[in-house]
Amino acid sequence: MQIKVLSPELSSKIAAGEVIERPVSVVKELVENSIDAGSSQIMVEIKAGGVEQIKVRDDGHGIPFEEVSTAFQRHATSKIDNSAQLDSIATLGFRGEALPSIAAVSNVVMTTRQPLDLQGFRMELHWGKEESSGLWGGSSGTGMEVTDLFGNLPARRKFLRSPSAETSRIQELVSRYALVFPRIRFQLLVDGKITFSSPGNGLPREPLLAVYGRQAAAAMLEIHGEDAETGYQVDGFSGSPSLARANRTYMTFFVNRRWVQSRMLSFAVEEAYTGLLQVKRYPIAVLNISIPYEDVDVNYHPSKREVRFREESRVFSTVQRAVRAVLIADSPVPNLSSPSTLNHDTSVALSSFTRSAFGRAGTENSTPLYQSPLGVESTELSAPVEPGQPLKIIGQVKLTYILAEGPSGMLLVDQHAAHERVLFDRIVKRNSEKQVRSQQLLGPVSVDLSSSQGATLESNRGALEAYGFQFEPFGDGSYLLRAVPAIFDESDPGKSLLDVLDMTAFEGLLRQKEDVTAASIACHGAIRAGKPLTKPEMEALLQQLESTPNPHTCPHGRPTMIHFSFNQMEREFGRR
Ligand code: ADP
Ligand code: MG
Repeated sequence: MQIKVLSPELSSKIAAGEVIERPVSVVKELVENSIDAGSSQIMVEIKAGGVEQIKVRDDGHGIPFEEVSTAFQRHATSKIDNSAQLDSIATLGFRGEALPSIAAVSNVVMTTRQPLDLQGFRMELHWGKEESSGLWGGSSGTGMEVTDLFGNLPARRKFLRSPSAETSRIQELVSRYALVFPRIRFQLLVDGKITFSSPGNGLPREPLLAVYGRQAAAAMLEIHGEDAETGYQVDGFSGSPSLARANRTYMTFFVNRRWVQSRMLSFAVEEAYTGLLQVKRYPIAVLNISIPYEDVDVNYHPSKREVRFREESRVFSTVQRAVRAVLIADSPVPNLSSPSTLNHDTSVALSSFTRSAFGRAGTENSTPLYQSPLGVESTELSAPVEPGQPLKIIGQVKLTYILAEGPSGMLLVDQHAAHERVLFDRIVKRNSEKQVRSQQLLGPVSVDLSSSQGATLESNRGALEAYGFQFEPFGDGSYLLRAVPAIFDESDPGKSLLDVLDMTAFEGLLRQKEDVTAASIACHGAIRAGKPLTKPEMEALLQQLESTPNPHTCPHGRPTMIHFSFNQMEREFGRR
């Protein structure tokens, strides 16, 4: 075929495809325009998942009627006018692509009136072509009505999911924007029914209620943090560990109140939960990062969903620290009815006991006590162990768990996980106080490493040495081991190094290196399941556990204890 320039109609359809992928993209662009227009109320109405109709109406500053037709031209924007401004974009829109793109793949009616004008203006377009326009007598602000989306792109329409799937994406979008713009009153109508509304009273917790439901919203912790040097700020909410989810989609990030997707930010939050969540559980969080406009490039991705930071690692550490600080101040004991403890071995014995003894699934399958509109489960939080209150040791179960009575219930403590936590805190503390405790071996021990063990050793060398290992290369993949951490018994020092390397490689993908190494060392050094303990040993272990700042999970994120409250016992036995 001969090379020729595409017709304007075809090229605008192709360009539209980049910006408008599905109904939620239309809603996103229109809502962002309404936010940029300084609105205090934004109402979104959709029919049949948005394919049949999407209406967005605001009370913002409107468009002068002589500019309405320009607004539908490609690259027409009122938000920037020179390339210097491209480096510090304060509005959500700036490319002038949304209106022409939406118009190219649908039928559009725009009505708009500026607050001081006596009359407004209405324009109707069919597949991008102006059909009619004229004066209009409605209230001030702007309304967009988009119908028959992708009617001229049947292939695109075929790829859309069911109306309900498209609806839930739109619901998620509107509710997330309500969270970072608490002063704007948002309303969403789906097929004629209000499914979401935020009060717009400026109180940040209020939209949280509408998004997550009362119980989960109450278990969200408020985050405020600032990096003194850069002035980067983090604000928002993070779920207490009991609200953990099985995937990452419950973390929502905004940068200067622009909704973005960022693996780096998810990692920063996950990092903050190190030791507080089990493996494969992910936190809920809604965070806005405020940073100077020139430190973030928003003109990077076609749909503006990804951004680039000038100081990525500063952003990472600001977020990680802000969230971590709040979590450490609040870490509840996992409860028997908490789903986060239930897929774990330690809870199986008790929960299947409750099930068989009472003939009901009860706490065991942990039907969520509460299901919010967005499916966030919430669980009852139990009282944390009160420090200083001595626990009464009752005995050891299966040579693995310590059974103890506390002030508000019974505790079942995993002896290995508990000791792991104690050792972990000890070696991290010693390292931070620069007092390394190594034990020198009587003579050096040669250890053969596989190539991947060797790579793990080299990439974690600093941490391994900081925590007490001393070694040197001995040629051909072997190392001479001269010292091991003092917490190890040195019966088989070579094996201790291999164990620690294997654990570090296995755990090392997500966490900070020092933490993984320390956790692996702690795990290797900790007492095993199956080891008989005397009462004084158990007492000492629980006392040491209680005095750690974070006693409820082991450094790998498994629970160290399960709390069975007196209230729960009374309920189970039908005493109340
Ligand atoms: P951008 O938002 O990138 O500028 P759009 O195509 O989304 O591009 O919109 C083009 C222009 O139309 C905007 O720059 C703005 O001036 C105007 N506009 C669009 N929607 C609204 C609205 N709801 N209220 C006021 N002005 C609007
Ligand atoms: Mg826009």
